[in-house]
Amino acid sequence: MIYDVIIIGSGPAGYTAAIYTSRSFLKTLVITGVQPGGQLTTTTEVDNFPGFSEGILGPELLQKMKAQAERFGTEIITDVVLSVILSSPKAGEESSVKDDNHRNTFIVKGQNETYEARSVIVATGASAKTLGIPSEETFRGKGISYCATCDGFFFRGKNIAVLGGGDTAMEEATFLTKFASHVTIIHRRGEFRASPIMIEKAKKDPKISFLMNTVVEEFYGDTALRGVKVRENKGDSEDKGDQGIEKQLQFDGVFVAIGHNPATGFLKNTIELDEKGYVKLLEVSSPRVQAGRQQSDKAQTATSVEGIFAAGDCVDARYRQGIVAAGMGCMAAMDTERYLQD
Ligand code: FAD
Ligand code: NAP
Repeated sequence: MIYDVIIIGSGPAGYTAAIYTSRSFLKTLVITGVQPGGQLTTTTEVDNFPGFSEGILGPELLQKMKAQAERFGTEIITDVVLSVILSSPKAGEESSVKDDNHRNTFIVKGQNETYEARSVIVATGASAKTLGIPSEETFRGKGISYCATCDGFFFRGKNIAVLGGGDTAMEEATFLTKFASHVTIIHRRGEFRASPIMIEKAKKDPKISFLMNTVVEEFYGDTALRGVKVRENKGDSEDKGDQGIEKQLQFDGVFVAIGHNPATGFLKNTIELDEKGYVKLLEVSSPRVQAGRQQSDKAQTATSVEGIFAAGDCVDARYRQGIVAAGMGCMAAMDTERYLQD
């Protein structure tokens, strides 16, 4: 069976793309990966997804998206994609498989099975980097958060810390001052990685203070997070001889802002990725534009390989929101439809 489109990933980007492609009568397969429903299934209340005036639980929202995709005929399979290969001709042969428009098809290899499609939408998301200390899991969602836009609202009037020294840490800290009584940025080194303008903005904010050369070693609390145990180094954290000073600091909440990892490792030999592993998008004109039949028609979700499109957090290092992922999923579906029609 050759699908019209295989969507890799079952978060808001993947399911929204599936709703659109299936509703356009394209034979659509969604491959869920190890986290059916994606990142939002790991949270409780989602307050900012339009259409749910009282908020909605993350897993319930994704269940609704899944049901909507299935209503239009999307097939959903639990598997993890290991590679995507363009089915190419063997030496001296015609291409093994070509679609009606004489394009190659894609072989999508999963852990369980191999699938084939005329086009692919990559919607594999990204995950926030964690510190990797055991107590982090204990208090995840009970005071530890990885997304200020998502959870800042729940920390009104609270004393919170932001961990990290990059632009994300500066941006999250500045944003969180809208809600928190005070924000402490804790960074492991003596210098920030963030851009000067972002540092300047944070430094000017009277609600923000800084703890440099400070490494968080443990989170503590009871039913909820109460604070962190840190080691303050005198100099650079790489100074192995310096054991540092241990301290216990009280916080109501901690936002870990030390970067994200896009789930794109399996694509590095297939499509162009940037230095951090995010999918690079290219604005590609459709043949109709090239033939001068239409004025403005650029596929904004096209990747470096014709027929592979991408959407959501695996592309978007900036906004990282469910509604943005869903919007991009819609765009990728429309670009795919147009590609298959051209
Ligand atoms: P994801 O949701 O990350 O989904 C990726 C999908 O790809 C998953 O199904 C995964 O299993 C699959 N996948 C990955 N690799 C493979 C593979 N090799 N093969 C097959 N499948 C694969 N946003 C909001 O708008 N509001 C909020 O309140 C909010 N709260 C959040 C709370 C938490 C705790 C977190 C972590 C995030 C939150 N976000 C929130 C952000 C939001 O979850 C993401 O922006 C959004 O889920 C991104 O959607 P996506 O479809 O791009 O990717
Ligand atoms: P980043 O630039 O990689 O910075 C990550 C920060 O977290 C670094 O300061 C790093 O410390 C620290 N860190 C990493 N692992 C850690 C660990 N295990 N323990 C403690 N600290 C740790 O990531 P980012 O801030 O998410 O930014 C990613 C990209 O998005 C950047 O290109 C950034 O410019 C961009 N961005 C731009 C904006 C904007 O322009 N508005 C906003 C957000 C992000 P070290 O410095 O010691 O390595």
